[in-house]
Amino acid sequence: MNETICNIAVIRGDGIGVDVTDAALAVVEAARGRTGGFQLACNDLVAGAGYFKETGQDMAPGHENAAAQADAILLGAIGLPAVRHADGTEISPHLRLRERFQLYAGVRPVKAYPNAPRRLADPRADAIDLIILRESTEGLFYSAAANKRETVANDSEVQDILRITRHTSEKLFDFAFRLAEKRKSKGRKGMVTCVDKANVFRSMAFFRKIFDERKGAFPDVETSYNYVDAQALDLIRRPWDFDVLVMENMFGDILSDLAGGLVGGMGMASCAEVGDDHALFQPAHGSAPDIMGQDKANPLAAILSAALMLDYLADRMGGHDGLTDAATVIEDAVQKGFEQNRLRPMEFGGDMGTQAVTREVMALISGD
Ligand code: ATP
Repeated sequence: MNETICNIAVIRGDGIGVDVTDAALAVVEAARGRTGGFQLACNDLVAGAGYFKETGQDMAPGHENAAAQADAILLGAIGLPAVRHADGTEISPHLRLRERFQLYAGVRPVKAYPNAPRRLADPRADAIDLIILRESTEGLFYSAAANKRETVANDSEVQDILRITRHTSEKLFDFAFRLAEKRKSKGRKGMVTCVDKANVFRSMAFFRKIFDERKGAFPDVETSYNYVDAQALDLIRRPWDFDVLVMENMFGDILSDLAGGLVGGMGMASCAEVGDDHALFQPAHGSAPDIMGQDKANPLAAILSAALMLDYLADRMGGHDGLTDAATVIEDAVQKGFEQNRLRPMEFGGDMGTQAVTREVMALISGD
């Protein structure tokens, strides 16, 4: 049988990034063993704070261009608190990749798993299963320090810009509606909520206007609006009522942490950053230097990020059953593992370190 080859740029990075990336690749291999039909050709790229400390560069020569050639980038975590640029900023080549590849759609799934921490007492919290879709290239991060875009900044006044463009917003909303359609086909609600502050800011009224313009092309998707302050309240009061929440960069930065906090810890927070031609997949957590090298990290965020990558690759290849099935096999294994109490990460007070969790997910995939 012909196997589809996917070229993956693998950046393990720093701290626990190395262990959780290895875990994710091992799990993908187990899923491939179940479904077949594809192979990952992995190109190991070197980047991060550790490399910067040795060489003064945040990425090995030529490796950024190599990332540009890949079908997808799989990243562990980057950064170490003690290693900084001369101006005090952190080592962050991944932010440069996000900018260079215009990875505008930041996908942050928030899902409650059985026997995992649940912060809300209401039993309906078991049904939390939503996506925070964070625009990731403009919004209030447009003039953020790392972008060094000119704004007023002197000792009497500092201004930052909140930038919304038609070009990016149209693509963002289309992405949101397609995501909702896909989720609907898997039994979810199929609803997109536009989270904004359209009652106060012209930029946000513009954002909502474009949302309204695009939604007509997706008649099967239900739509709603929420002001960001009301959305923060609703994420505590009734998060189970939401499906896909789309918003500008800064709102997404804040609400994805809030929503993630409802269903567990950093070790469960997966993330996809998708652009027109490139995509990067990484756990939302950092390099966690406090637990690195101790086999304590929960690898599930990285493993679930790899599942998002397989799903993306399936679409990129124009629809591919093996890749789609492999993504589903991983998600189902994690779901079943929690249901049967076979996944007990140390992060949640359990007895299973990085390797034990990884082995168990692989066993669940193999049907053991
Ligand atoms: P960054 O700024 O790079 O996101 P950070 O310092 O904000 O990093 P993390 O590195 O994500 O944060 O770590 C925050 C806390 O969460 C730490 O106590 C860390 O040990 C814990 N943590 C992060 N990831 C995991 C994981 N996968 N498993 C267990 N604990 C984790």
